[in-house]
Amino acid sequence: MRRPFVAGNWKMNTTAASGCALAREIAAAVPTSRDAVDVLVAPPLPYLDCVDDELAKSAVMLGAQNCYHEKEGAFTGEVSPQMLADLDVDYVILGHSERRHVLGETDADVNKKVAAALAAGLGVILCVGETLEQREAGETEKVLAEQLSGGLAGLTAEQFTAGPGGNADLVLAYEPVWAIGTGKTATPEMAQEAHAFLRSKLAEGWGDDLAAETRIQYGGSVKPANAADLLAQPDVDGALVGGASLTAENFLPIIEAAF
Ligand code: PGA
Repeated sequence: MRRPFVAGNWKMNTTAASGCALAREIAAAVPTSRDAVDVLVAPPLPYLDCVDDELAKSAVMLGAQNCYHEKEGAFTGEVSPQMLADLDVDYVILGHSERRHVLGETDADVNKKVAAALAAGLGVILCVGETLEQREAGETEKVLAEQLSGGLAGLTAEQFTAGPGGNADLVLAYEPVWAIGTGKTATPEMAQEAHAFLRSKLAEGWGDDLAAETRIQYGGSVKPANAADLLAQPDVDGALVGGASLTAENFLPIIEAAF
């Protein structure tokens, strides 16, 4: 019932030329006739427009990696959800661990962004995940619960309106910080346990229906060799892929593993 969702987070990588070429290759492999899996690429902001052109005749959706919570005004360097919607962006990634840990975003910041993005009609991929220190201290569930309730504070299930394929527009990504860009992947069992916990928290806060329809992606060193085992877990509904989304050679087999 939950349609698998594989997203590529390019982070601060590619050039205008290489990013557009990568989008062209991915678009060619995911034509509109192959829509049983949702696929998205999130290039750096300056390349959104050219990547959007490359994706036009494909089923691949366009993502952004961040936004601000205001519509417009004196916020030098920031980009509003409305501007992203203007550029045909479908989903925005919010609360990524690099934004939390490198750029100092708090749950309160993330919460404002989630509300603003949903209000502007964007889908949201909300990232949550524990550090190695927190996992070793037995705090994983506490951290996940806090990031989830903090990121979604004040929002109702109705605000997570129907997205593509009848799934909720709100997508969660469980990304253990210790697995991001490190080559260390959570085992399928660890991922399943965290995903099931997140789904139970969604059910507690926003009802069983929303919990049942919300996709939860796993992220953290997903690659062709481990994607199938992770995606086979009952509560793992897709992947948020960083490093391996930067070449079609690695990203396309991950998409195939979700079919
Ligand atoms: P990685 O990044 O696949 O390179 O570990 C995942 C992410 O940060 O979304």
